[in-house]
Amino acid sequence: MSFVPIIFGKKDWDSRHPLESQYSGIYCPNCHNFQVKPVKRREFISLWFVPVCPIFWGNQLHCPICNWRQDFKTEEQLQKVMNEQNKLRQA
Ligand SMILES: [Zn+2]
Repeated sequence: MSFVPIIFGKKDWDSRHPLESQYSGIYCPNCHNFQVKPVKRREFISLWFVPVCPIFWGNQLHCPICNWRQDFKTEEQLQKVMNEQNKLRQA
C-alpha cells in the first residue's frame, strides 16, 4: 500500500457585491485612498484543492490597493460608514 498524503489548504475569493455600485469609493483608513468597495467574501478549507468546508462566508469592505478588509453584516452598517465618510469629505 502506498502512502498518499492528504493535502489540506485554504481557498478564498471575492465576488462582486450587489451593492457595489451604490457603495463604492469608500475611504480606506489604512492607505488613505477612496477605493474601498463591498465584496462577497468566501473562505474554504480545501482538500486536494477542492473547497469542502466554509470557514468564512459573508460581506467585507475591501481595499484593492493595500488589501485592507473589514467585515460588515447589513446594509445599515454600510450606510453608516457612508454617512461618516461624507462628513469626513466635507470637513
Ligand atoms: Zn487601502
